Amino acid sequence: MDQDSIRKQLLDAKAILEKRVATIHNHARNPLDADSAEQAAQLGNVEVVAALESEAVEELASIDSALRRLDDGKYGVCMTCGDDISSKRLAVRPASLECVDCAELPPA
Ligand SMILES: [Zn+2]
Repeated sequence: MDQDSIRKQLLDAKAILEKRVATIHNHARNPLDADSAEQAAQLGNVEVVAALESEAVEELASIDSALRRLDDGKYGVCMTCGDDISSKRLAVRPASLECVDCAELPPA
């Protein structure tokens, strides 16, 4: 995949996540305004909301890092061991910053 397509994919993913974070914020402010019962159930308690938000914020940070690495010409190279990240892994998760071996290691 060429760099422009990768960048577009990352930016699209970023836009979706930003929207999700905004939705979570709105819901947290107006819990009784949830536009669907399903959403209310999903975002039923503060801990779940906080977990969803931090997950989305973390993913956003990965996407930003991936975009920076794309600019630096280091996209697709594992941040931990320097090996190439498999294209299969990048296809599933374009914001991957580590190869599958490093990602599976427990955090130090
Ligand atoms: Zn690695």
